[in-house]
Amino acid sequence: MTAVLQRLRFPVAESRGRRYPEAPHPYRNDFQRDRDRIVHARAFRRLEHKTQVFSDPVSDHFRNRLTHTIEVAQIARTVAAGLGLDEDLTEALALAHDFGHPPFAHAGEAELNRHMARFGDRFDHNLHALRLVESFEQRYARFPGLNLTFEVREGMVKHSRDFGPGEFPELDAYLPGLRPPLEAQLIDLADEIAYSTADLDDAFDAGMLTLDDIVSAIPKYAEIQEAIDTQFPGAPPRIQFLEGLRLLIDWLVTGLIQGTLAAVDETTLHSVDDVRRYPYRLARLTPGPAETSAELKRFLYATVYNAPALQQEREHSTAQVAGLFNYYLENPTQMPEPYATLASEQPTHRVVCDYIAGMTDGFLRRTVRQLRLPANSCS
Ligand code: MG
Repeated sequence: MTAVLQRLRFPVAESRGRRYPEAPHPYRNDFQRDRDRIVHARAFRRLEHKTQVFSDPVSDHFRNRLTHTIEVAQIARTVAAGLGLDEDLTEALALAHDFGHPPFAHAGEAELNRHMARFGDRFDHNLHALRLVESFEQRYARFPGLNLTFEVREGMVKHSRDFGPGEFPELDAYLPGLRPPLEAQLIDLADEIAYSTADLDDAFDAGMLTLDDIVSAIPKYAEIQEAIDTQFPGAPPRIQFLEGLRLLIDWLVTGLIQGTLAAVDETTLHSVDDVRRYPYRLARLTPGPAETSAELKRFLYATVYNAPALQQEREHSTAQVAGLFNYYLENPTQMPEPYATLASEQPTHRVVCDYIAGMTDGFLRRTVRQLRLPANSCS
């Protein structure tokens, strides 16, 4: 495939740069350095101990947020390369895209948000990710945070949504009202392809669904299965499933490459500035794969995400988040530094939220046990 969108690739030499200027590196450009800083960050290693869908006891080879992140980076790089976009910027954004996720995935996020709402505030994982890389990551003598380039920080806060002027006062510096470069626009869709297909895989392994279930819920998969039946009639169901999964991922990834190309083809965009000023995002799937992706999501909600076992686990986890939130709200000096000091300078609920949001699932559980908090001190 030719690198057809090179004219819309973000030119690294035109980066708005870092908050604290640094000398250039002899052989790594700024986006490569950002990618490397992200890989070496604490927040990156903590992803290993954060739930994606299934938490640890289920299986040692199911996805966690770190392996999910690596899969997103693989898909996003493939798409960026296919389109002729900047692979390093894309990879940096993919590797950081889940930095802001609190323990216990979306259930943990909703629970933190619920407690913040009691104070007229909110928890937002994109804003939290920015706070992490701007201040909570402490590893350099000359500046707080990772001192990432503007484009990586912008992509982190815009990868999954756009915002207008004044909508998030904390984000006024990040070009509200303008679209992010294409490299950032790809991330959300690469994320969706990665988690939908991976959740299908883990759920199949967990025995939560069968080949027949998938075939009857997803017409494209029925087509894929027919081809596999012809090609590998004697293969065991698990191998047939994995062969089918490959084709499904390929169908969605190709859909993203071709859908984005087609969207750009309908315009007269010539530069990254044109992409920024265009009223819509241009990264999208072609109609067929987009339909498959929607069916896959509906299927996963019905059979996996809303399954009683997972729901029960979520209720237990959110009760632990609630218990810990209330405990630190009443006992802010029990938090370690810098949070204990910060709590005397900033609203306590904000600092408690930051502290809990940075925890891994395991650390949160251990803390609840050590403090002997009642398992269901939900407020
Ligand atoms: Mg993700």
